[in-house]
Amino acid sequence: MAGHVVNGGPEHVPQDGLSGAQLFNNGDGLTYNDFILLPGFIDFTSDEVDLTSQLTKHITLQTPLVSSPMDTVTESDMAIAMALCGGIGFIHHNCTPEYQANEVHKVKKYKHGFIRDPIVLSPDHMVSDVFLLKKEHGFCGFPVTRNGKLGGKLIGIITSRDIDFLEDKQNLKLESVMTKLDSIVSAKLGVTLEEANSILEKSKKGKLPIVNDDGELVALIARTDLKKSRDYPSASKDENKQLLVGAAIGTRPQDKQRLELLAAAGVDVIVLDSSQGNSIYQIEMVKHIKKNYPNLQVVGGNVVTAAQAKNLIDAGVDGLRVGMGSGSICITQEVMAVGRPQGTAVYKVAEYGRQFGVPCIADGGIQSVGHIIKALALGASTVMMGSLLAGTSEAPGDYFFSDGVRLKKFRGMGSLEAMNRKDAKGSAMDRYFHSDVDKLKVAQGVSGSIVDKGSVLRFLPYLQCGLRHSCQDIGTRSLSNLRAMMYSGELRFERRTMSAQSEGNVHGLFSYEKRLF
Ligand code: GDP
Ligand code: 5GP
Repeated sequence: MAGHVVNGGPEHVPQDGLSGAQLFNNGDGLTYNDFILLPGFIDFTSDEVDLTSQLTKHITLQTPLVSSPMDTVTESDMAIAMALCGGIGFIHHNCTPEYQANEVHKVKKYKHGFIRDPIVLSPDHMVSDVFLLKKEHGFCGFPVTRNGKLGGKLIGIITSRDIDFLEDKQNLKLESVMTKLDSIVSAKLGVTLEEANSILEKSKKGKLPIVNDDGELVALIARTDLKKSRDYPSASKDENKQLLVGAAIGTRPQDKQRLELLAAAGVDVIVLDSSQGNSIYQIEMVKHIKKNYPNLQVVGGNVVTAAQAKNLIDAGVDGLRVGMGSGSICITQEVMAVGRPQGTAVYKVAEYGRQFGVPCIADGGIQSVGHIIKALALGASTVMMGSLLAGTSEAPGDYFFSDGVRLKKFRGMGSLEAMNRKDAKGSAMDRYFHSDVDKLKVAQGVSGSIVDKGSVLRFLPYLQCGLRHSCQDIGTRSLSNLRAMMYSGELRFERRTMSAQSEGNVHGLFSYEKRLF
């Protein structure tokens, strides 16, 4: 690079902008929109940029992206998609311990291309049931087992070809119309995707039921999935090649039993879910986990000051979750008057944590690729997202329409709606320190809806690509180098006035369409 001038380079070039320390040490609370990064020198292509980053002391991810443990963001589908793309998802705990552990189990047992919980019918179901399911789910290939459940003996399969001409014979039982066992092509448990591929190719069938030695159904493979199956070379995996997954728990005595179930299900990392993590309860829980589950990584939080971080680091956390009141659905700063602007919080905690080798997750307030790179430039190792991932097809909940717009529900975990949850998945968690005797719950979040964003499997590659381009503009080939540049003072920042912020947004147009990828 000799001869090229980079920021903070040869002395004859006047020093421009501010270092991270200069930006954050003057007492103002700043957040992502309040500053901008100055460009550096480019001598590499964007696909050379390495996005590898540490989630905790012992877990490294290929992509610094994490999904939030919220009940409208992360269950197994989201966690699987996040891990496939090189990030990780934290399963929420606004549900029974058994439900949460089962979601963890689904991620650990996930095999790409295998449908592990297919809809299964019994021979007593009617043709009308199949039409209904087809209408509801859009597909029409259902295995039939003797007891109508997964794990039951496979006795047939019903596909659109079996019922295409039966619209006027809805009362027929499947027993009389299904394709029977002797004409089904199935495969044994343990079959690889490649083998399944070649079986389906030879048989020309659309579905391949997978059975165990006793002929009981354990999974299903759809031809459509094999056709579109792609490799996920940067998937986050453990040493057994299973996807990595995290889960949230609280800090009450009964959370120890929840933890036991999660550990048995194979969870890799626990986040202690609290809006103010600097508490005796959390310190005790960290010590409990480190003593009884030495292989489990623990993320403590949330914290926004070095003093809060110190107590959790002393207790033994492997990572810190940073943010208080910056989330999109959050009213903590308004109601409690406690919190911190997220840029300053990330800078201060990350700067402290790095002295002890404890990585930080910047949690909340992320609205764009630009916010992600800013969080990372301030010292965070990964970024946790709620609203940015809500509304995707992998987020829990069904879509609904309002004024012709396709939406999904999204709500704060401290909203009254989430705290009062009473459904099949269980009920209230304790992120906001409500004791059982609290007569009145004080909301720290709101509930609302969010627009359909399609699949995370398309959205995450967009975020990754955006991050690589941003690193290229900054002139860094890796995220670890980005942090090094910040701490050495080579990375230069500048404050943005309100008018600079409006200048940095679309302006002066009568109308426009904002499509991101
Ligand atoms: P079909 O031939 O009408 O059943 O539909 P396709 O096989 O073309 O597509 C089914 C899609 O739905 C695939 O991507 C499956 O992975 C997905 N899918 C999810 N759950 C199920 C399920 O329980 N049964 C079936 N048949 N497909 C499922
Ligand atoms: P987002 O990415 O949507 O801006 O923020 C998500 C983060 O907001 C979560 O990871 C969590 O830390 C925080 N959060 C979730 N629900 C609530 C809530 O009801 N109140 C507050 N104060 N924060 C919340």
